[in-house]
Order: sequence, then C-alpha cells, then structure tokens
Amino acid sequence: MFDNEEKTNLERLGEFGLIDHLTKSVELTQETTDKGIGDDAAVLDFSGNKTLISTDLLLEGIHFDLRYVPLKHLGYKAVQVNLSDIYAMNGTASQITFSIGLSSKFPLDAVEELYSGALLACQKYGVDLVGGDTSASAQGLVISVTSIGYARAEETTYRSGAREGDLICVSGDLGGAYVGLQLLEREKRIFLENPNIQPDLEGKDYIVERQLKPEARKDIIELLRSLGVKPTAMIDVSDGLASEILHICKASEKGCKLYEEKIPIDPMTYDTARDFGLDPTVCALSGGEDYELLFTVDQGDYDKLKNQPDITVIGHITEPAAGTGLISKSGNVHPLQAQGWNAFRRV
Ligand code: ADP
Ligand code: MG
Repeated sequence: MFDNEEKTNLERLGEFGLIDHLTKSVELTQETTDKGIGDDAAVLDFSGNKTLISTDLLLEGIHFDLRYVPLKHLGYKAVQVNLSDIYAMNGTASQITFSIGLSSKFPLDAVEELYSGALLACQKYGVDLVGGDTSASAQGLVISVTSIGYARAEETTYRSGAREGDLICVSGDLGGAYVGLQLLEREKRIFLENPNIQPDLEGKDYIVERQLKPEARKDIIELLRSLGVKPTAMIDVSDGLASEILHICKASEKGCKLYEEKIPIDPMTYDTARDFGLDPTVCALSGGEDYELLFTVDQGDYDKLKNQPDITVIGHITEPAAGTGLISKSGNVHPLQAQGWNAFRRV
C-alpha cells in the first residue's frame, strides 16, 4: 500500500518533522485558547464556566475498516464523534487534541489526508486544534481525540435530569448510519470476491454519508438556545435509540414510553433496510452511530418545539414503576433492551 519513497519521507521527517508538517496550517480562533500546539501543555481559560472534556479511542479493525473508509472522512468523523459528546452536555466545543499511532504501511500523503479531514471538521465547527501526540504503531492505525468545551453551570445538561411527564425528543432521523454500513459491507464483500466489480452506491448518498461523514448537532444546541428551551436531560445517539433512552432513564431513575410510529426514519433508510430484510425500527433502536441528540424537555416547552422540522417528540418520561417500553405501531408494548427489542445484534 506504500511505496518506498513515501515511507522514506515519513522516516526522514521524523516525529518532530511530521508534527511540524501536519500542524503548520493550524490556526487558533477561540478566545478560550491561550496557548495551542508547541509547549508541554495547551493553556485554556474558561473564566468561570464549567469545563467539559470527552475522549475517544479509535482502533483500525475494531472501529473502522480502511477498505471502505476514506482517510479524510475518517479524520473528519473522529472529530465529529467527539464534538458530539460536548454538545450532548449542552456545551460549546472549543478545542480538541488529535493523537495518532501510525503503522509503517502509512505513507505521508495518507497521514495528510487523515489530518486534513480532522482540520476541516475543526474549521467548520469553530474548534481549535491545540495538541496531540504522534507515535509509531506496531499494527494498524490508532486515533485518539479529546474534545474540550465549556458551558455555564445552569446550562450544563446531564443524563440524570429527566422528570416524570417530560417529553422525549430526538433531532434529525435515525437508523441511517447503520443501514449505510450494511450497504458498504455488502459492497466490500462483492469487491473482495470480484475486484473488477465497482461499488454500486448509486442514489444512496444520504445513508452512505450518514455512516462515513456524520455531523455533530451543534445546530440543535444553538436552535434550543434561540428558542429558550433548556433540556432537562440529554445524550447523543452513538449506540442506538434504545440504549441511549435507557441511559437517561437509569441516570434519572425514571421510566419511559416511546412510540414506534413517531421515530423519525428517512425514506431511503426505510427502503434500504427493507431491501436488506431488516426492520427499520430495529435499525433506529439498535443501529447506532447516528450522532443525533436525544433529550427531554418540560411539557410546557412543547409549543416552542412543535413546528421545528428537525426535532421530533417520540414519547414521554414516566414514573420508574411503569418500566421502559416501546409502544409498537399495532399498540403492543415491548420492553426496551439495549440491544434492540428482538434478536438483533450489532456487527
Ligand atoms: P511532549 O514530548 O512534551 O509530549 P511532543 O513532542 O509529543 O511533546 O509534542 C510537541 C507539541 O506538538 C505539543 O504541543 C503537542 O501537543 C503537539 N503535537 C504532537 N503530536 C501532535 C498531533 N498529532 N497533532 C497536533 N499536535 C501534536
Ligand atoms: Mg508527546
């Protein structure tokens, strides 16, 4: 996968040369950043706000497959996934650190691609890249992103704040990233069997992008602020709706009722899931990686949210004794399970 000339490039650059090369175009734009790359630690100043920190570790072969994930998308997604956790606290993301472990198969231009995706995400979301670490890896690519943000004490939103009677809301639509993954996996199998066949993803842009290029919902945080709505509890949808609502219910010591017919699913997600013999609702409940925001609000906020096309009310919070249930389209109650409400398993 590499030619020797490029490998020599990386070796010739060395660790410090590579860091300089990768970070030379990094610009600082956030007033909360006092010092970025270049000292022993970055220096940030949140003057009285709560500081939010979240970190993710991504390993080749476990979290991503370079056979169908372009490196630029991977860098972009690694940052988005991490920023999503800061928005899920109702915070403003302001800095990240970006660390990489590179196996010898990586040529310089591959690292540049990865880095350019990460920087694009930073630029687009107004986040400074203030540091990282760079190392050789014995096997495979390793990426670790830490995101840092801030929120006023009274706006910081925890999983534990849901109250009986609160409405359960979700942004965007669900299940698309999982169905997109099924599509990419299928094309990979076909390609491995016959490398002459080109992938057929025609007309499937939306769900392929949902998988390869998710967007953290900074816009929803800003929208809620502008509407004067403070969620009582919030989480981002990384593991699927079922798992996330159960986290909120557990942390808040409450129950819930979700309505299957209300769960927002894009028509392309729906149709493609059906083509794969999958239940679209199960994809939304257990698929994961949608990076939408799931949150609860006071019933009194309903009027402010009811005409927002990007926010859907999908149920309500109950007393704990009522349990955690999904009311199906036919009116039956299924207890919610973190891995879906039938024998659905994640890949
Ligand atoms: P130290 O030995 O003190 O850990 P390093 O030599 O690892 O310092 O890093 C020097 C500077 O370069 C630090 O500011 C560090 O945050 C930054 N840095 C290292 N690797 C990366 C990277 N992949 N992306 C961004 N900044 C990096
Ligand atoms: Mg270091």
